[in-house]
Amino acid sequence: MTYDYKEVVPYLLHWFDRNARILAWRENPKPYYVWVSEIMLQQTRVEAVKGYFDRFVTELPDIKSLAQAEEERLLKLWEGLGYYNRVRNLQKAAKIILKEYEGEMPASYERLLTLPGIGVYTAGAISSIAFGIPVPAIDGNVLRVMKRIAGSFDDITKESVKKELWQDIVKIMPKDRPGDFNQSLMELGAMVCLPNGKPLCDQCPVMHLCKAFHDDITQQLPVKPAKKERRKEDRTILLLEYQNRYAIHKRMEKGLLAGLWELPGIENKLSAMELSMTLKDWGLATEQMNSLGDAKHIFSHVEWNMIGYHVILKELPLQYSSDNSIVWADTSELIDFYSVPNAFRAFTKDIKQKKN
Ligand code: SF4
Repeated sequence: MTYDYKEVVPYLLHWFDRNARILAWRENPKPYYVWVSEIMLQQTRVEAVKGYFDRFVTELPDIKSLAQAEEERLLKLWEGLGYYNRVRNLQKAAKIILKEYEGEMPASYERLLTLPGIGVYTAGAISSIAFGIPVPAIDGNVLRVMKRIAGSFDDITKESVKKELWQDIVKIMPKDRPGDFNQSLMELGAMVCLPNGKPLCDQCPVMHLCKAFHDDITQQLPVKPAKKERRKEDRTILLLEYQNRYAIHKRMEKGLLAGLWELPGIENKLSAMELSMTLKDWGLATEQMNSLGDAKHIFSHVEWNMIGYHVILKELPLQYSSDNSIVWADTSELIDFYSVPNAFRAFTKDIKQKKN
């Protein structure tokens, strides 16, 4: 069953003109701004991104400054957004743009696709919004909106379904406003055609054209197979303190939170007694030990169930002060310089509060 989407275009554009949220990267859609915002918006809501975006482009206002930024500074600017590979790829791509395109983003969908971290969706968004090139930008919001309008039970996780929708959108894309059209679909998905069975159909500009609304099947669409359950891991996290400095450890360059700073951790959740014995085995003499309670952090494929302990050490054995993968950071360094991922926030928040 095919649906002719042609009629929805003017209604969507009209609605977008009156309802689009005012966003810095929309007010000034220069390629660099559109790019940074689109990368930040992957996995993160618009409201949360606003502050990060302003801070990022104030400190790194152009591709050259991004390419030349210190990695530690870059990670700090990204702290809290998670998925740190996104910002590492931003910088890799900025270096390539500086070298191969004289610091200007290429105004070409195909060339954008060759840059690290820029996939089909992001290349489509930058091309259409920043350069007015008529290519689709299909994300989860767009898939949901379009499949509901068509009343389609296609599995939206299938590549063939995305490809078919791409062709459908190419056919109806207004050549004079491709960026606005793509954004109208994204915006409708974010503001009105909400996920998890709760669309606000009475506020929708295409309600009269929407098959899901007409057939009363909005709650059943879009169709996607159930996600695999996340792996669960128990961990004990240590806020190790010695002379008002805290131990942070650099993770390996591959895998989860690759190359980032973490609070030292141990597999499994240890009781206070078990931890005392472990620390003794490590040759660490403790002056004080308090539980920081339980916390959970959810990554895309793994869930950490943690218990934290604040351990104040009496002395520091030589091997701990000379281990290059461990830094003893003071409060200011921990807060302003090193980027410690959100997963550990439950156990570092007291230090931050103390400083403020
Ligand atoms: Fe989505 Fe409802 Fe609009 Fe259809 S009418 S597109 S289900 S918000």
